[in-house]
Amino acid sequence: MSGSQNAGRKSKWRRLEKYVCVACKKEQSFCWSCPCGFMICWGCMKENYWGMSCNGILWTCPDCGAIRSFGND
Ligand SMILES: [Zn+2]
Ligand SMILES: [Zn+2]
Repeated sequence: MSGSQNAGRKSKWRRLEKYVCVACKKEQSFCWSCPCGFMICWGCMKENYWGMSCNGILWTCPDCGAIRSFGND
């Protein structure tokens, strides 16, 4: 038997999703991401918005050129 540590209630029913923005290198609670591994946080997306999105609906991954949606994956 093992485990008498029920003190911390952490949900681990999902794979740990950790976003680290490739632009600012900071850990974020959310990033837009691309299958190639690129991910960018909201703040950096705003800064680079002019170069990444032309219509506010889609953005282009600067790494692989994939067209990504701002909606949920
Ligand atoms: Zn960032
Ligand atoms: Zn990509």
